[in-house]
Amino acid sequence: MTVQRTLSILKPDATERNLTGAINAMFEKNGFRIVAQKRLRLTKEQAEGFYAVHKERPFYGELVSYMMSGPVVVQVLEKENAVQANRDLMGATNPANADEGTIRKTFAESIERNSVHGSDSLENAATEIKFFFTDAEIVG
Ligand code: ADP
Ligand code: MG
Repeated sequence: MTVQRTLSILKPDATERNLTGAINAMFEKNGFRIVAQKRLRLTKEQAEGFYAVHKERPFYGELVSYMMSGPVVVQVLEKENAVQANRDLMGATNPANADEGTIRKTFAESIERNSVHGSDSLENAATEIKFFFTDAEIVG
């Protein structure tokens, strides 16, 4: 196994409920290092661009407005096998299907307001990290 980096987003439902520390405590407890981090409000262009892969899905418009509805925290997580490890810790997209102990089972409100984003492949992780961070902003 090799050390990887993956993009994580704490979504507006998490910032709204003041859960950024509680969620990041779960990442750190599980061995992830947060090597880059910023809090921002996504513009329409950013939200649409980030989720462009879902453009044809029926929930795309709502997803874009939801992601712009409040602050988000975008961050880079580092760990061995980080991409899959983050997906495992996040749990299923729909919190109703998420395993006990996962972030989404613990905190998510619904399939849309599911508290966290995580890259789904090493290739997408690289693209998504570049979407938000320059190399100089990532400090391992
Ligand atoms: P994941 O975030 O687990 O990778 P997807 O990439 O399939 O899930 O979807 C991206 C995001 O779109 C989800 O995290 C969730 O916020 C939202 N979403 C997914 N499916 C639905 C749905 N059926 N209805 C509303 N929102 C959805
Ligand atoms: Mg996804």
